Amino acid sequence: MSTFPEYTADKIKQLQSSDNVLSVVLNFVEQGKLTTQMLTKQTKPVKKLLRKFDSLVIDNGILYRKINDIECGECKQLVIPETLKHYALETLHNLSGHQGTERTLALMHKRCYWSDMVNDVKHWIKTCERCLVAKNPLPKVRPSMGSLIACKPLDILAMDFTVLEKSSDDPDLDNYLANHQKQMTESLKTANENIHKKASERQEIMNRGTDNKPIEIGSNILLKKHVQGRNKMQDNWHPTPYRVVHRFKDNVYGIQLADGSGPVRNVTRREICDTGKLDMMQNSSSDITEDSNSSFGGWNVTIVDPIPLPIQIEHQESGEDEQDITTASIDMTPPVDDDNSIRRSKRTNAGKHSNPFNLPKSVLLKEASVHGNIEPVKFEQLGEAIAALGTSLGQSLGQTLQEGWLKHNMSNN
Ligand SMILES: [Zn+2]
Repeated sequence: MSTFPEYTADKIKQLQSSDNVLSVVLNFVEQGKLTTQMLTKQTKPVKKLLRKFDSLVIDNGILYRKINDIECGECKQLVIPETLKHYALETLHNLSGHQGTERTLALMHKRCYWSDMVNDVKHWIKTCERCLVAKNPLPKVRPSMGSLIACKPLDILAMDFTVLEKSSDDPDLDNYLANHQKQMTESLKTANENIHKKASERQEIMNRGTDNKPIEIGSNILLKKHVQGRNKMQDNWHPTPYRVVHRFKDNVYGIQLADGSGPVRNVTRREICDTGKLDMMQNSSSDITEDSNSSFGGWNVTIVDPIPLPIQIEHQESGEDEQDITTASIDMTPPVDDDNSIRRSKRTNAGKHSNPFNLPKSVLLKEASVHGNIEPVKFEQLGEAIAALGTSLGQSLGQTLQEGWLKHNMSNN
């Protein structure tokens, strides 16, 4: 079966006919007629699939949905039985480079179909652990503006500098100081008014369309990863799980490592990725102390059982081979990815900046690169030659000195 190379056509046929929904639909498509009366008796999932009755076809005993794709024209989507959904999502999302919803759906659309495919794909991607760590949540979280609360002395430090300007009109110091004080008081008052006015204006603009959905105390969260330098490939979030232990006003949260160890840190909402949608959800706040007893502090990872189906790779006989080719709609071997968890560039200088601190570069080297006729190798050779010269010079100088010293000694004696 070319849609899923691990499954033979027979296997797919068998899986489809043993599926509760597909077996009923297959019957209808085989008969080729469907009345409203028949439809009303069916279950909800069957009805949903039968809405596409006109586009459903059976080819060599396998149920397909015929569609017109913009890219590949008319193509047949394999109708996926319940047991194959997990495999399809795993293959076309996890093993295909963890693409976003749109691209994963595009891959799916060319190959397979089931009734609630779009929602299933969205849910799968939303709860994909790798995607959660690597990507920013959509829609972007925009907390309302607020101030960060320091949790230890000198945690947050801000300083203003001001310089007293000499008054030009009054040289008398007392007058000057009084004048200055008056001016300062007035300007401070005006500045304060302006600051508050502008701050509230800014806050109002910033708070437009903010997502202030509070994170519950005890929720498991991820912390933002601040990578310095070039960071195209790096994850957006640290994989280390934290959990919320306090919630202050102004969207500031007190967080601690998920196992309950380490100090409590205060961070703003912007620094937090709520994993609430994963099955790693922490229990309510009342359970916090109890949860710290468990090994991962309540970081409950639900491991979905792999599909219990035996995967068969069968070399088919010549007769079946031909049949296989006819049923083949599109070749859909997923890109091979040994380690689907980490995306890495293959470049040897990946992640390395040629001059990260913008240090001054040698003019000679620059010229060498500009004028192609001077090769950098020549400079290496030149360096070696100078080094050799240095050694020989040193040797001869040493010799001369020794001779001189000997002469000096002899003359002294
Ligand atoms: Zn993913």
